[in-house]
Amino acid sequence: MKRACKICKAIIQAGNICPNCKSGDTTTSYQGTVIIFDTESEIAKKLSIGATGKYALRV
Ligand SMILES: [Zn+2]
Repeated sequence: MKRACKICKAIIQAGNICPNCKSGDTTTSYQGTVIIFDTESEIAKKLSIGATGKYALRV
């Protein structure tokens, strides 16, 4: 299972360091994924996501 960053919720494709915020605080126990194409979208704002990419809904 892939890991998700506990800080910014980004899904990490490889390794265990978040490419977004460089945090090593990651987990495999996250729920749901969402792909953000537009940082101005409702879901991005709701999750406080500032960059496009794949994110966990809940970590
Ligand atoms: Zn992160």
